[in-house]
Amino acid sequence: MGELQSRSHLASLLLLLGVLPPFGAEQIQFKPGWNVFSPKDDIQLGQQAAAQNDRQLALIDDVGVLTYVSSLGGRLAAVAPNNEGYSFTFRVVNSPDINACALPGGFIYVNRATIESAQDEAQLAGVIAHEEGHVVMRHATQRATELLLHRLGFGVLEGLLGQNLGARLTEMGVNFLFGSTLLKYSPDEETQADAVGTYMLYRAGYDPRAMTQFFAIIRQKYPQQTTEYFLDHPAPERRMEKVEAEIPQLGPPLANPKTDSTEFRLTKDRLLHMPLPPKPEPAQQ
Ligand SMILES: [Zn+2]
Repeated sequence: MGELQSRSHLASLLLLLGVLPPFGAEQIQFKPGWNVFSPKDDIQLGQQAAAQNDRQLALIDDVGVLTYVSSLGGRLAAVAPNNEGYSFTFRVVNSPDINACALPGGFIYVNRATIESAQDEAQLAGVIAHEEGHVVMRHATQRATELLLHRLGFGVLEGLLGQNLGARLTEMGVNFLFGSTLLKYSPDEETQADAVGTYMLYRAGYDPRAMTQFFAIIRQKYPQQTTEYFLDHPAPERRMEKVEAEIPQLGPPLANPKTDSTEFRLTKDRLLHMPLPPKPEPAQQ
């Protein structure tokens, strides 16, 4: 900690002197876990799952909303660590629940209620950066790796390396549809996605504290933690404290962090005036 602090003081000094770019976070390393899938597999599996998921969801096709969310997500993806060429693609779901979800390979779904509940662009950026964190740390295919290992054993799995392991998952009836176990992360994976997301906020010029501000909004809205968001992203112990503790290690505080934008305000306003999808008809007896 002492060393980190003095490094951070040195970085502040160099920054003042104009020697360093404002990226003190460069030295922080994030390493994805053991994975039998390749990053290309992640993209392919994500594409297949996105096609299936899209059929089940009410998606918003408003060009203005999509352009804004894609541009914000793209700016964050540009500073993501371990980006193996993932095809970051963004969808906005017409749902009144606060949630966001990522498929392997970079397919990110943000519910409209998430955008409507964010108080500024930085908070929305925090949610998207967290999802991109799951993508670059490859949490979904890491879960699939663990499942294959558990079902097949190491010997068999080793013999299958380089083959179409996605087909194996399909044979086992396992997929990346929303709600499936592969997309319900562990508290440790949540901590990691928070850490990567906080780092990305900082590198993209946002106040990294926006991440905890948005968690506070979700906690306030769903005190029982029974909503989908917590099923997909179970809150780790001391979540806020862990994020707060990471911030000083990122580098010198940004002199003028971005918080909001006119585009965010316009998009939020546009969504607030958009109708929710009709409730499905009750099934006939
Ligand atoms: Zn998460």
